[in-house]
Formats: sequence, C-alpha cells, structure tokens
Amino acid sequence: MLTSVSFFTLGCKLNHVETASIVQQFIRNGFHVVDFGKRADVVVINSCTVTTSADAECRQIISRAKKNSPGAQIVVTGCYAERDPESIAAIEGVAAVVGNCDKHRLVDVVLQKTIHQLRSAESFVAARSMGEDNRTRAFIKLQDGCDYTCTFCTIPRVRGSARAMSIPDVHSELELLCKSDCREVVLTGVNLGEYKAPSGERLIDVLRLFEHASPNFRVRISSIEPNTVTQEIISFIAQSKIFAPHFHIPLQSGSAEILRLMKRRYNPTRYADLVHRIKDSMPHAAIGIDVISGFPGETDELFEETYTFLTSLPFSYLHVFTYSERPETPAASMHTRVPERIRKQRTNRLRVLSSLKRRDFEYGELGSVRTILPEHYEEKYDGWVGWTENYIRCIVREPKSSAKTPRTIVLREDNIVGLLPTSAYPAYSALE
Ligand code: SF4
Repeated sequence: MLTSVSFFTLGCKLNHVETASIVQQFIRNGFHVVDFGKRADVVVINSCTVTTSADAECRQIISRAKKNSPGAQIVVTGCYAERDPESIAAIEGVAAVVGNCDKHRLVDVVLQKTIHQLRSAESFVAARSMGEDNRTRAFIKLQDGCDYTCTFCTIPRVRGSARAMSIPDVHSELELLCKSDCREVVLTGVNLGEYKAPSGERLIDVLRLFEHASPNFRVRISSIEPNTVTQEIISFIAQSKIFAPHFHIPLQSGSAEILRLMKRRYNPTRYADLVHRIKDSMPHAAIGIDVISGFPGETDELFEETYTFLTSLPFSYLHVFTYSERPETPAASMHTRVPERIRKQRTNRLRVLSSLKRRDFEYGELGSVRTILPEHYEEKYDGWVGWTENYIRCIVREPKSSAKTPRTIVLREDNIVGLLPTSAYPAYSALE
C-alpha cells in the first residue's frame, strides 16, 4: 500500500501554489507527507522549463529521488513535463508524466498505478497555498495560461491559453480567506493582468471585491505585464487600504529594438512612463523588474541602452535572467546569438545594478513608518524577519515566543536586513 509521499517543486510561485494544493489532495487521500530526500512511496516533482538549467535541474531531482527512495513511484508534472513528456517518460524510474492541466488529478494517477501521459484540457483549475499554520501568507491562483506570443517564451505552449477563476469562485476564496488567520494574500497568475472571468470581469473588478470585503489581511499583486497595468489600477492601489504598494513588472529589455524582436507589447518610453506614474502616485512603492540578458541580437550597444535605461528608472530591485534558448520558440532559431560568456557578464552587471538600486530605495525609506509582517524567527538577528508592505526585508527584535502579528516599525539602518553600506560596491562574485 502506498502511504507516504514527498514533493519537490521547481520554478515560479504559481507552481509552488499548485504543489500546495496537490499536497492537500494527497493528505485527504490518506497519505502522509515526508520531506523530499527521505524515503517515500511516491515522489511528486513539479517541474519548470523556463530555462535549459531548469530542465537539467528536474532531471537531477529525478536522480536524487531514485537514490533516496528506491522503488518509489516517481511522478513528474509541471511545465517541463508538459513540454517534453517523451524525454521524461524515457528516464528510468519515472512512473508517470502528467501535463499541467491534469496535475490536480495526480492522486488518481498514483492510485491507479498506471503510466499516464495526460495532455492539457483548457479549463481553469484553482489552487491555493497557505502557511502550515494558516497564518502569514496565502497565495491564490486567479489566472492561468497566456495568449501572448513573446518570442523567447514557451509558457503559452506549456500552460495553454489564458483562462481565469470565475467571480463566484473568487467570492468563495475570499470568504475562506476572511475566515482564516492569514495576514497577507498574494494574487498570482501566469499573465495576471489579462485576468478575464468567464462573465467578463477584469482584474480591477477582482481587486475591488477584495477591497470591499475589508479583510484583516493585506493583498499583494504578483508579477503583472506592463501593458496591463492601467491608470485605473494604479489609482486604485494608491488609495487602497489593503493593497500593498508593490509592483513587479517585467521589462525584459530597455532597447526598443530588442523589445520588438521579443514581440513585447510596449516600448521603453511607455514603460518608463508607467514606472513614473506609479512613483508619482505612490513615492514609497516598491517596483521590481524582470530583465533578460543576452537575447539574440543584443549587441554591446543595445545592452548599454538597456543598462542606461534601467539606471534612469526609480525601481527597487531586478530579477535578472540570462537568456536561454527554449526549444520551438521563435527566438531559439534567431541566428544572432550572444555568446554564453557575454550573457553571463551582462547578467552580473545587472545584478550589481540591482543591489545598488535596492540600496538607494532602502536608504530613501529610512525614517518612514511601515508595517512588517513577521514571518520567521532567526537566531542570528535575535528577532523576527518579515517584509514591509513595500517589500523591504526587516527585523523585529522581539523574543521567539512573541506572536506573528503585524508590527508598525520605523525603518532604520539597523532593522533592514542586508542593507548595503553606502561605501560598498557589491562584488560580482558575492551576487552569484
Ligand atoms: S506574457 Fe510573454 S513572457 Fe509572459 S507568459 Fe506570456 S508569452 Fe510568456
């Protein structure tokens, strides 16, 4: 009889949220969950395929699972499983490969003990993850799939077309969250800004529903495409009592030419205008930006355009991705490839810029009064660590026994985690 299960999740927040829902399904079916690495009857790996290294990591995890749990049923799901099921099914020891839209049926797959290669249906499957104690943070998947055609991205292929949670289901989620003890809710989706309910409501309507409920938690919006951040959304969040002033807006390149090759739906001028409008209405807002270094055709001059463009923007941090060819994407067959070494050098330069921008943002926030949600106790800080509404990682120096309730704090140099001294210039090596 199969009784124990372990999980390993790669990739984005959405994947983690979906794993959390799968975990609950296994528990409801009588399994007990053990940490990955311990012997289990079933090992579920929720894969990612955003880069070549994400694929490689999945294969490594399969090997580790075989070593740690000899004879276990290894089930691989997620984006890599969706993109290349045959290669994964061919790996010795893999019992089932399950596509993204069927990942909510993993328990059936395991109990039937058959080898499945299920392909996507196009319906929306909700997912939610809550902290173990139902406190601190919950993630809600509101949207899935994407209809855009960015030339570097394989997501529309592996996640299917855009679809979203219905409004009645949003009401049910909201009701459940309001009854829980959670202190922060993160709204997620593959292309969240394109949320469109079957009855036609858009993201702004969902934001209003949350605000109207006057919940006891704050709400954060996860990554959102720049062309979907409307002035209505900016003005709404600026006045909101519950939404965090935090935007994570993929840019990918600051060069108009590269954005055109990527088939993105904006140009640098429009992007800069968006960032400035956010900062004009919420000067304390955190703005995070995704950038890809080394996209085909990115000459030294075009990279410098991106670098100079970013230098001029008031953002708080970057997530830098080194470009990696994804099979069957238009960009993978572009002939103007940037050598790997140059891609990595550019990534390093951008990561240093990110650290410096974060420092500027955090120094600019010193003396301000913010709300921190303590998440976990860290001995080395002798206190609780958590995030402010505008995404600054802080310490509350209180005993381990103190409750994890939100605290109002004044930001100081000694309570911001990892604040760089003004004299320091971060070394590339420290950032790798
Ligand atoms: S918006 Fe572009 S990058 Fe994002 S998931 Fe859709 S196709 Fe991929």
